[in-house]
Amino acid sequence: MQVLDALTRTARDLANGNIVPSLAETEVARQMQICNACRYCEGFCAVFPAMTRRLEFGKADIHFLANLCHDCGACLHACQYAPPHEFAINVPRAMARVRVQTYADYAWPSALGKLYQHNGLGISLVLVFFLAFFLFLAVLANGAPWKMSMGADFYDIFPHGILVLLFVPVFLFASLALAIGVRRFLRDITVATSGAPLTRPAAAQAADAVLRLKYLDGGHGAGCHDEDDAHTLARRRFHHCTFYGFLLCFAATSVATIYHYFLGLAAPYDWPSLPKILGVAGGFGLLIGTTGLCWLKLRRHPLHGDQAQKPMDQGFIALLFLVSASGFALWLCRGTQALPMVLCLHLAAVMALFATLPYGKFAHGVFRSAALLRYCVERRQPGRLDHCG
Ligand code: SF4
Ligand code: SF4
Repeated sequence: MQVLDALTRTARDLANGNIVPSLAETEVARQMQICNACRYCEGFCAVFPAMTRRLEFGKADIHFLANLCHDCGACLHACQYAPPHEFAINVPRAMARVRVQTYADYAWPSALGKLYQHNGLGISLVLVFFLAFFLFLAVLANGAPWKMSMGADFYDIFPHGILVLLFVPVFLFASLALAIGVRRFLRDITVATSGAPLTRPAAAQAADAVLRLKYLDGGHGAGCHDEDDAHTLARRRFHHCTFYGFLLCFAATSVATIYHYFLGLAAPYDWPSLPKILGVAGGFGLLIGTTGLCWLKLRRHPLHGDQAQKPMDQGFIALLFLVSASGFALWLCRGTQALPMVLCLHLAAVMALFATLPYGKFAHGVFRSAALLRYCVERRQPGRLDHCG
């Protein structure tokens, strides 16, 4: 059975012209061979139990394992073979290098996969600046904003129809690109993870792991690592704030859309309407979460993760922060002459966030969820090695 699996994967790789492993993939395979003999870190996360089901590591296995890892650093600080040992085991770094490669390899359209290498803080801020500039030019073309009446609101500046025309195509493209990318990824790792179909218990277990960010507890509940070998739950908590903040903001927009199209209630919505409550709660979550994650990133141990990917992480965090901060500024500026300028900045930040979603750090959440789904399916199957010997 194991041989058949390997042959199937090789045939797929050959058909894709994708047979030669990259340097990053070869390095993960080398480290996994050593870890598989050691197995000290078995209880830390999903990577090690998945590793023990394998003797060899093909491309799809490596892509699967790399996306199960979330760079908590636990196995680095526990490892007796970590640098300066000659084995130079640094699993989080090796996995991070493959992870970003998988986002690019499975990206849709394929040519845009290169954007992962360029997506960073500078690009994000420049994009926001130019979008805000062009939006402000559009406002100017409609008349001097400083002559606007004090009671003016968002839709006096940008009519609802224009906002829909601007945002719906960007949102649909981002959703489609992410969906196709993760489907390509799932197609490959499904073969590598027994090929068994998804079941309800497996889906429920994966959803539980994603929603609780289960593996950010280090496997023992004390948390993961940042600047040293001390455990901390700070990263898990800031991730939770960011994750649920984003979901609440998304829920606020969805409820507002229902209000507008089905209940005939036009924005802006005042306190304590449901869109406002969801938006404010989500905005606070994003502000706290992104500020905390940024602070932790500045203090992280230099051996954690892949330094080359720092700009991509920072770009995503900065855009989320800008979206929430400008959203609150918008609330404070209602009825003032600063409103047009702040609205342009907020819309530009939202648009830049959605335009870069499929080619930036957001992919981590989507690919990781897919990998966890297959992990929960695979662990319900008899191990391939159970038939050996
Ligand atoms: S990371 Fe180090 S300690 Fe952990 S399983 Fe691998 S070799 Fe062993
Ligand atoms: S860094 Fe954390 S998540 Fe990644 S393999 Fe090591 S223990 Fe697992």
